[in-house]
Amino acid sequence: MATAGPRRILIVEDERDILDLVRLYLEKEGYRTLSASSGTDALRMIKSDRPDLIVLDLMLPEMDGLEVCKRLRADPQTAMVPIIMLTAKAEESDTIIGLELGADDYVTKPFSPKALVARVKALFRRMERAQEAPARYAYGPLTMDLARHEVKTDGEEVKLTAKEFGLLEHLLRHRGRVLTREVLLDSVWGYDRDVTTRTVDVHVRRLKQKLPFLNDAILSVKSLGYKLKDGDTPA
Ligand code: CA
Repeated sequence: MATAGPRRILIVEDERDILDLVRLYLEKEGYRTLSASSGTDALRMIKSDRPDLIVLDLMLPEMDGLEVCKRLRADPQTAMVPIIMLTAKAEESDTIIGLELGADDYVTKPFSPKALVARVKALFRRMERAQEAPARYAYGPLTMDLARHEVKTDGEEVKLTAKEFGLLEHLLRHRGRVLTREVLLDSVWGYDRDVTTRTVDVHVRRLKQKLPFLNDAILSVKSLGYKLKDGDTPA
């Protein structure tokens, strides 16, 4: 029922007025909503109810949104759940979202509910795009052909190992999202017991050596993992 029915969005906000407003607008768009008013409640509900997306306020009692987000990203079971943060100041948001927290997008308070709904829709579209893996990616000077197992920059072929190829494909597919080391290990290395999260760092370094333009494109996210800047669409 959860997968076939309307998408379910968890709203985490302790200010009743904002919660009600957000809920009203999201339900008007056909989404189902769940709500939590503290970080601890949110974590519990995410585990039990598996929402499709979370609208998470930064300022919460007990445990703030930053901590909730970090915990979700650190747990492979919840690491990929889309999160939109509600933050107080625009200038803080870029740093918090991009480099510390691992949220997918943010909206600065005070916000218009319509703008939030637009962000929610855009994020769902991004998730759908990531699910249908294209046969080919174009990203800056790079093209990646999955069927041919071929990577080129400016038309020149670059030889990658199977794991480097897998890692690059995963980063491209989920560009714009924070991928934790655990998620990358799980998706690229599977259940190989001999690898540790350090393996991911080593391979990211090698990818950057072989494809130097990635030095600016792959962001290291403090204590979490990596993020490839959002860019060109699948070719
Ligand atoms: Ca709040």
